[in-house]
Amino acid sequence: MTDFFAAAATDDTPIEPSLPDGWELVVGLEVHVELDTATKLFCGCANQFGSEPNTNICPTCLGLPGSLPVMNESAVELAMRLGRALGCDVNRSVMARKNYFYPDMPKDFQTTQYDQPTNSDGRVVLGDGFVVGIERAHIEEDTGKSTHVGGGGRINDAEYSLVDYNRAGVPLVEIVSRPDVRTIDHAKAYVEELRGILLATGVSDARMEEGSMRVDANVSVRPHGSAELRTRCEIKNINSVRSLGRAIEYEARRHIDLWTNDGAPDQETRHWDEEGGRTTSGRSKEDADDYRYFQEPDLVPLEPSAETVAAIDAAMPPLPAARRAALLEASGADASAVGIVVERGQDGLAMAAIEAGAEPEKVVTRLVNDLAVDDWSKVEGEAFAELIRMESAGELSATQAKQILGDLVEQGGDPAEHAASRGFEAMDTGELESLVDQLIADHPEEWARFTGSDDGDRKKMQGFFTGQIMKATKGQADGKAVAQLLAQKSS
Ligand SMILES: [Zn+2]
Repeated sequence: MTDFFAAAATDDTPIEPSLPDGWELVVGLEVHVELDTATKLFCGCANQFGSEPNTNICPTCLGLPGSLPVMNESAVELAMRLGRALGCDVNRSVMARKNYFYPDMPKDFQTTQYDQPTNSDGRVVLGDGFVVGIERAHIEEDTGKSTHVGGGGRINDAEYSLVDYNRAGVPLVEIVSRPDVRTIDHAKAYVEELRGILLATGVSDARMEEGSMRVDANVSVRPHGSAELRTRCEIKNINSVRSLGRAIEYEARRHIDLWTNDGAPDQETRHWDEEGGRTTSGRSKEDADDYRYFQEPDLVPLEPSAETVAAIDAAMPPLPAARRAALLEASGADASAVGIVVERGQDGLAMAAIEAGAEPEKVVTRLVNDLAVDDWSKVEGEAFAELIRMESAGELSATQAKQILGDLVEQGGDPAEHAASRGFEAMDTGELESLVDQLIADHPEEWARFTGSDDGDRKKMQGFFTGQIMKATKGQADGKAVAQLLAQKSS
């Protein structure tokens, strides 16, 4: 563990609003991500989540005597791609042994990187422009997985424990941020942004619930304006972005409580208890010395050439920040709406629809409001643009347009064809107008109230007339066209 709390503090940083006045939050985040490779880091076993326990194993990932590691080239490539996406320098790096005993680590050491990590000195720029520094992003292997049965699910009160080594040797990158985060919102935004970068680069599927992205938060507090770095606690076992926010807030309040009552927190690892909504004490935090790191003798250093790094840069797909900027420029829509579209990965669809001639702002609004579905792959940009055009032109009512969008999600195809097969004939304007005239003639009293001076009455009667039209047309009339006709007739 490097001393990443050595960075200087800056003043005029935002203050976390949920904490008592006068206190500042200091958060550093350590994120482990499993790389999306076919095989493990040092052997040919499948890197696969959800297999039968202890089926993806071999002498190497079980750490049996005489077995030797062979570095997975594609894992190294993905790690470097991630490093470049985080704006890091890609360095000559060496693998090291981190020695400790744990039942899910049969070698009794973890092969990782220590003082010469593959990636260092990067940054993540959040949606609002806030910058979180990245100290390092190093390659290491994952451990196996213990399940403690009985008691509270922790090793100390378990009846027995089961170990699954399928995960042992799965390639990881650990991304260590600088302690730059000062608010819970920024901590959450950082994790969301990282997730977007991981998905965009194809480095990891970044599923927090399956453990392919795991977040630990180093939390401390200090009086606002102070530059000191007080004792921190590392919170583990955080399974969602929402839990991250809750865990940081709980921990910060616990620290403030201790400091204001002449106490001090111990430097330790703590576990987040989702149900209890609190952190509980884990083990006291070891120093780097305790691990007796030394260079892994069975692996050569990684020395990427300048050409290799240049090739990684050249093949870099557009990252979320650039995609947000592009859609923002193309649509002129609200920044937070654009952020949602990019986070869902729907910006490709949005750009295609805009290119096909749809009104840009409407594209973004429609996506945000009406396309919060897991799979929209059948919706084509042109079809989406045509649907928006049909609704704007009054050929479809809002309700009908939603139904057609549902058809596009399920079957793809052309909105006009779906409209025809559903019997959504475009309502003729002349036909609609004569219906409105008939209604006015049938309800002179209501019409008088609509045209009168009482605004409340006018609103009520607008609802009345629109309702009657919808009833008469079985919902096929376009609400906007009805409103326009009523306004026309009353002026
Ligand atoms: Zn293996």
